[in-house]
Amino acid sequence: MPVEGGAQVFFEILDILGRGARLRCPCCGHGRLFRTRFRIHDHCLACGERFEREPGQWFGVIYINLGLSGILPAGGYLFLDAFTALPASQVLGLLLPLAALGPFLFFRLATGLWTSIIFLGEGLYIQWPNR
Ligand SMILES: [Zn+2]
Repeated sequence: MPVEGGAQVFFEILDILGRGARLRCPCCGHGRLFRTRFRIHDHCLACGERFEREPGQWFGVIYINLGLSGILPAGGYLFLDAFTALPASQVLGLLLPLAALGPFLFFRLATGLWTSIIFLGEGLYIQWPNR
């Protein structure tokens, strides 16, 4: 039985992270996280879950965004190195714009994943202030 319980928790965590990756509320999965391209709702419009639980919470988004943004040029480098004979200057010319665009491309995904991680860490604070 503990294996089934552990597997259930694992799939529940994956589901919550998936909700964040789909830019939905990690609590209910229905409400949208963003009200504009770069602005997030204060709370879920479907269930009322607060997305920002404390000041400075969004600092973690930077680390996730940095990691995701680094995967793109690193993967591109490995791909180009393995399958093409391009000189380093051309590889750099291709990957540098990709590296510069990464933080903008992955901002929403990083925010969604971070919101899910925060929810997983503090999701049991049902009586959070101002809620
Ligand atoms: Zn919700």
